[in-house]
Amino acid sequence: MSLTTTYDPQNIFAQIIRGDAPCYKLYEDDDVLAFLDLFPQSFGHTLVIPKRSAACNILDVDSEALARVIKVVQKLTRAIVAELEPDGVQVAQFNGAPAGQTVFHIHMHIVPRYAGEGLGIHAAGKADPAELEKLQARLLQRIATQA
Ligand code: 5GP
Repeated sequence: MSLTTTYDPQNIFAQIIRGDAPCYKLYEDDDVLAFLDLFPQSFGHTLVIPKRSAACNILDVDSEALARVIKVVQKLTRAIVAELEPDGVQVAQFNGAPAGQTVFHIHMHIVPRYAGEGLGIHAAGKADPAELEKLQARLLQRIATQA
């Protein structure tokens, strides 16, 4: 894969957007979808994606769609920090396999960081579904009550 890779409509995030694959959804509107990472690098690791852009990365996404995504990233980062009380939070976005990208539908990572805890291996180690369900319920409640 390279930065110039062609968008593959069968990528896993495209499947999630179409409802062909499941996700632990945290937020959805007409343009943006957010859900828990299935292979989290930390407790609360969340992904935010544009729904209408067939874009692999930051080079080809349209700026309006990107702006909508970052607004949701901020909203969810606030909710995650309020609910999980991490000591820090990383907001990240990778472009191209050499930069660490493994799913080629543009997305942003929200990765809470806890003092003394290292980061899990990227895109490895599937989370316990029961834990993800519990976490989803907590965060949904927080998002619903957030100003
Ligand atoms: P990237 O490496 O492309 O920046 O990030 C892709 C992310 O998607 C990784 O953090 C990986 O754990 C996550 N991921 C891969 N497959 C799935 C999946 O089927 N469902 C969810 N929710 N996350 C996934």
